[in-house]
Amino acid sequence: SEPILEISNLRTVFRVRGREIAAVNGIDLVIRPGETVALVGESGSGKSVTSLSVMRLLARRIGVIDNGSIRFRGKDGKTKDLVTLGEEEMRQIRGNDIGMVFQEPMTSLNPVYTIGDQISESLRVHRRLGRREGVEAAVGLLDKVGIPDARRRAGQYPHELSGGMRQRATIAMALACDPTLLIADEPTTALDVTIQAQILDLMQALQRERGMGMLFVTHNLGVVAEIANRVAVMYAGRIVETGPVAEVFKAPRHPYTMGLLKSMPRLGTASEMKRTGAKLPAIPGMVPSLADLPAGCAFAPRCAFARDACRQAMPALSPVNDHHGSRCIRWQEISA
Ligand code: ATP
Ligand code: MG
Repeated sequence: SEPILEISNLRTVFRVRGREIAAVNGIDLVIRPGETVALVGESGSGKSVTSLSVMRLLARRIGVIDNGSIRFRGKDGKTKDLVTLGEEEMRQIRGNDIGMVFQEPMTSLNPVYTIGDQISESLRVHRRLGRREGVEAAVGLLDKVGIPDARRRAGQYPHELSGGMRQRATIAMALACDPTLLIADEPTTALDVTIQAQILDLMQALQRERGMGMLFVTHNLGVVAEIANRVAVMYAGRIVETGPVAEVFKAPRHPYTMGLLKSMPRLGTASEMKRTGAKLPAIPGMVPSLADLPAGCAFAPRCAFARDACRQAMPALSPVNDHHGSRCIRWQEISA
């Protein structure tokens, strides 16, 4: 089917002390209806800047998109380039066509309004529901995301809810207008393991039911195995490997992905990984500073397979097959 989101050659830069650094440097990403694409990579690799670029919420972070396109197909079936869209149109898309869930629910919830008012506000703005209808719909949504005693909770303020309940409330808010795309940036990281599993199950069930596309940012490879169809591995602002989750986890074709997977429990079932809470292991060495990237492959200084050629030019994404790509010039030799 037609993609909902098609990111092409996206580059997002920050100006830091007079120097320009590319936090996202030429990434391509496609999401189709009903599909979940996971973005993984160490801290600082550009995952959040990618999701904030799609939402055009970089202003808070003084970043600028300086190249590429973000083609998004809205509920009206029309495809628009979010990079060049006016702020007014963008405001219509946020919350209405694209829902967002972030790591810390308090960043999306306003402490001075009740949960019910916040959800119904979004419905009143985007759906033109009346006040009473809005509140009724909000109660229905809170119930849907598994908040017990939804009517009473709708009348409470964010601080009166537990962390897990607050995250359920932000999911209810994100889904209120029936978006075609959900962007979730570490939505379960702040929660304990049991609540985390419940929230993931909930998101998966809602996504299946609605056929939404989902961009899911996480550090946790167990979560990727559980929730995603495809994975994109980021390193220093670039996607270094991308493909179907099962294939990439079974036969990674980039040394960085191999490093991330290395201390995972022997590749068992998704539920096994989820149970063990497999996390990204430490890879020797440090992520390079974006202001001072080495020539050639940015991973070469940490890579056991690196050769001189790797330090000369940034490797292009080589097709391993139609669905799987690697930015390693030695991908054919390095298979585990
Ligand atoms: P984490 O896993 O820690 O959330 P991330 O992959 O989401 O990491 P980003 O938040 O996307 O990382 O940041 C990527 C890089 O962009 C950072 O390492 C930093 O160099 C740069 N960056 C992000 N925000 C800013 C900012 N406000 N000013 C300057 N540089 C920034
Ligand atoms: Mg982040």
